[in-house]
Amino acid sequence: DYQLSHRVNAIQPSPTLAVSQKAAELKAAGKDVIGLGVGEPDFDTPEFIKTAAKKAIDDGHTKYTAVDGIKELKEAVVAKFKRDNQLTYSNDEILISAGGKHSIYNLLTAWLDSDDEVVIPAPYWVSYPDMVKLVGAKPVIVGAGIEQRYKITPQQLDDAITPATKLMFINSPSNPAGTAYTADELKGLAEVLRKHPRVLVATDDMYEHILWNKNDFANLAMVAPDLRDRIVILSGVSKAYAMTGWRIGYAAGPKKIIAAMKKVQSQSTSNPTSISQYAALAALNGDQSCIDTMVSAFKQRHDYLVEALNTIDGIRCVAGDGTFYTFANISDLMRKAKVETDVELCEKLLNDVGVALVPGSAFGTDEHCRLSFATDLDTLKEAVARIRKFADKL
Ligand code: PLP
Repeated sequence: DYQLSHRVNAIQPSPTLAVSQKAAELKAAGKDVIGLGVGEPDFDTPEFIKTAAKKAIDDGHTKYTAVDGIKELKEAVVAKFKRDNQLTYSNDEILISAGGKHSIYNLLTAWLDSDDEVVIPAPYWVSYPDMVKLVGAKPVIVGAGIEQRYKITPQQLDDAITPATKLMFINSPSNPAGTAYTADELKGLAEVLRKHPRVLVATDDMYEHILWNKNDFANLAMVAPDLRDRIVILSGVSKAYAMTGWRIGYAAGPKKIIAAMKKVQSQSTSNPTSISQYAALAALNGDQSCIDTMVSAFKQRHDYLVEALNTIDGIRCVAGDGTFYTFANISDLMRKAKVETDVELCEKLLNDVGVALVPGSAFGTDEHCRLSFATDLDTLKEAVARIRKFADKL
């Protein structure tokens, strides 16, 4: 038998991908399945971005680039932080990587040793705990339920921090919850962090632009400039510009940490795809109205879905602030269906009425499920009708 590493044996394959796969299998077998499991915009990448990529090929940008990304793209990221967040970074505080996930992985590899603890608020993005385990460190999960709109309090953070804590994640707007921390809430967390100078903060701003009220966006670096040296911002072009397949993410943070992340990247993947870097450059420097078009569609679907789900007996959800997900509390529905876990309920929904959702336990929060509304309104209406039928039959 093969002796795989302890580190790899400690982790699971991404559960969101598993749901999509199961739904795809059923579909292939001829079953009528609506998949609300997806984690990417249903829109195509805007035309001007594709054009820039084609031009990059024609211009011969097909070779290795600087490990940390082309200078123009780093400058565009610097300009983005100035424009959108009033934050000042220099080029050596920026690292371009092969997607947001890669940025996170570089950070964890550069920052964590075995047995370091990482505070992860739940519901969390599925990959955080497994990525932390993959580098040998320990996730410490802090749960926030529907009554807190899935956001942790300063007290909870304080209680979770130990002498072994070296990092915490903040993901706002949140995948899967759809809710975002306000500037005041972040200031509350900052107060706690000031007492614990060893703790670095990874703020995952991947959904920054997918926010109903764009003036509401805040991250920790914006509200607590004194903590700047302890914050790494992780973001990318995947969600805002419907560019999930292009694989460009970026990180901004203290020079020393970014340099260490760059070292990891230099000995693992080298530069992200040259052509994608030129596409991301066009995205960041181009007309940003493409984002508004997508966000207004997401908002319309969100409003429909949250209201409709709340009229189904056994389901409760709160209005989100952004993203293309809603996180529904299904504890009453589970009781009515006489099942013990949200995984069983999601299986039943898939088998009985052909709706594929991701169970909340995949995000560290039981008795919930995540519904993605990165699909058209008619499909959402059909999905709601099926879920209602399922609930009414119980
Ligand atoms: N962070 C969050 C919260 C996400 O939801 C995702 C993608 O699902 C990522 C990071 C990673 O994005 P990318 O596709 O650029 O790796």
